[in-house]
Amino acid sequence: MKKSYALLIVSFFSLLIHSTYAQGNHAYWQQAVDYTMDVNMDVETYRYTGKQKLVYTNNSPDTLNRVYYHMYFNAFQPGSEMDMRLQNIADPDRRMVDENGKSRIAALSPDEIGYLRATSLTQDGKEVSYTLEGTVLVVALDHPITPNSSSAFDMDFEGQVPVQIRRSGRNNKEGVALSMSQWYPKLAEYDFEGWHADPYIAREFHGVWGDFDVSITLDKNYTVGGTGYLQNPQEIGHGYEAPGTKVKRPKGKTLTWHFKAPMVHDFMWAADPDYIHDTLIMEDGPALHFFYKNKPEILENWKNLQPKTAEAMRFFSENVGPYPYEQYSVVQGGDGGMEYAMSTLITGERSFGSLVGVMVHELAHSWFQHILATNEAKHEWMDEGFTSFISDLCMNTIMNENKANPFEGSYNGYYSLVLSGKEQPQSTHADRYEVNAAYGRAAYSKGAVFLSQLGYVIGQDKLMATLKKYYADFKFKHPTPNDIKRTAEKVSGMELDWYLTDWTQTTNTIDYGIRTVSESKSGTHILLERIGLMPMPLDILVVYNDGSQETFYIPLQMMRGEKENPYGQVKRTVLPDWAWANPEYSFELSKSLSEVKAVVIDPSQLMADIDINNNIWLADSQ
Ligand SMILES: [Zn+2]
Repeated sequence: MKKSYALLIVSFFSLLIHSTYAQGNHAYWQQAVDYTMDVNMDVETYRYTGKQKLVYTNNSPDTLNRVYYHMYFNAFQPGSEMDMRLQNIADPDRRMVDENGKSRIAALSPDEIGYLRATSLTQDGKEVSYTLEGTVLVVALDHPITPNSSSAFDMDFEGQVPVQIRRSGRNNKEGVALSMSQWYPKLAEYDFEGWHADPYIAREFHGVWGDFDVSITLDKNYTVGGTGYLQNPQEIGHGYEAPGTKVKRPKGKTLTWHFKAPMVHDFMWAADPDYIHDTLIMEDGPALHFFYKNKPEILENWKNLQPKTAEAMRFFSENVGPYPYEQYSVVQGGDGGMEYAMSTLITGERSFGSLVGVMVHELAHSWFQHILATNEAKHEWMDEGFTSFISDLCMNTIMNENKANPFEGSYNGYYSLVLSGKEQPQSTHADRYEVNAAYGRAAYSKGAVFLSQLGYVIGQDKLMATLKKYYADFKFKHPTPNDIKRTAEKVSGMELDWYLTDWTQTTNTIDYGIRTVSESKSGTHILLERIGLMPMPLDILVVYNDGSQETFYIPLQMMRGEKENPYGQVKRTVLPDWAWANPEYSFELSKSLSEVKAVVIDPSQLMADIDINNNIWLADSQ
């Protein structure tokens, strides 16, 4: 009696300890940082200086003794990690190499490289020591930042805008003077996994949310567009002034542009003396700004792009969640298409279809990166893949593509990745794929299929409801893979751990097949087989010689649920669950074999079965 009482107390306490631990581990928090920056750009030398005040709030349960800044422009120097990667990867980004395949970074002269250096740094007025390690500034704090407290950092910095190699830079190939992304000392993110002071090697970002107040001084003939609301439009003009009003510019050769951007985790700007600046004010949405070069051959496309941008803005706001800012800018610049807070940099000398396509993709990133800010270095499939998924749907609608399967390109990309033998799990860090092509297909193609195939598993309506709930629950946060899975579970009532695990953390593939269709005592016997390791539920379509059809649904036992009938007009029979470990599964049709014309696994082809040949049985070819 006594003994079991003691046992009871022990287990009671361990329960207490366990629940406290669990709460501390899982309660969501995120850091906050507010930036005030004053920057002076010399448009002749491409050098700039700046003062940055940063108020950093530690909302974590941990005491911090260090902070890190990203100093991205140092990547554009011979011998940098970005240069070394470029020189040693089998399929370098074509934009970053010359016509002989040699690194363009390696060839940069001292006045063409990029750099970003701190020239002084204090924490709450006290000098701190820091070391620059490539693209990361490591700062030893003067005093620790305890949980729920703030520190103010004041930094003076100087930089040089590199010749345009990748994303940012001067004089891109379409002649845009300044594409200013990844240009300022940017505090690295600290989250439940710890610090994410990733070196800038090739790709992907993770930033701290906060309010930005940025003043940029440069030659008065340059028009500036990008992140943030302009605070002094009547002083600036350049198309920002209220229509029909007079602009009162201060005297001098320069203008100081004052921008504010609330609740963002990045700040981009671009500037050019020849930008045309158009504004389209949506009645039911934000003001859309367009900045593009005054070149006759692109004007028509850039005019026609504007109503398409409004249509895409409406599409995403309706299907994911309302766009939360009052402004979005489409800016010609950079080297392809890249998403930034409240804006994008895209190259502009394209066919109309391609111009709309790149705008739609980058605008979609406003949701899947700039509002739902996954750590895209670790979960690249969540921002590139989800963006590809929703932009494929959007293009299908606003460009009247009306494809039966708008994600066909993504499925084909995934299948070719599997065939290549170069596939690595999607949980691979974005910088650590063996080849760029494997990154691209894992992030974009397989990432888009994650969602379109999830629609096959839980049903299309439930998928779209999942996206809306995911937005509502995780906007302005850093959602993780488990968050999208849990959201889909809550919406569908199914258990989906197997789906997340196999699809994103392994290279397991799906392959189900029809082994035999044969005469039986009561009708027709169908024998199916599971060849691939990844489990899936199955939809089976049976077509009879008289033209009639019926479907069968085999739920996967471990998902503990069933989807609604996706083919509502066709009779569906829900069969007993398939327990995954069984390599075979059979069921009976009441009609005789002579009446069966065809049997098809997944007629929607949304299940990414890597061998489609054994998914169809045709009476004619027997
Ligand atoms: Zn993208």
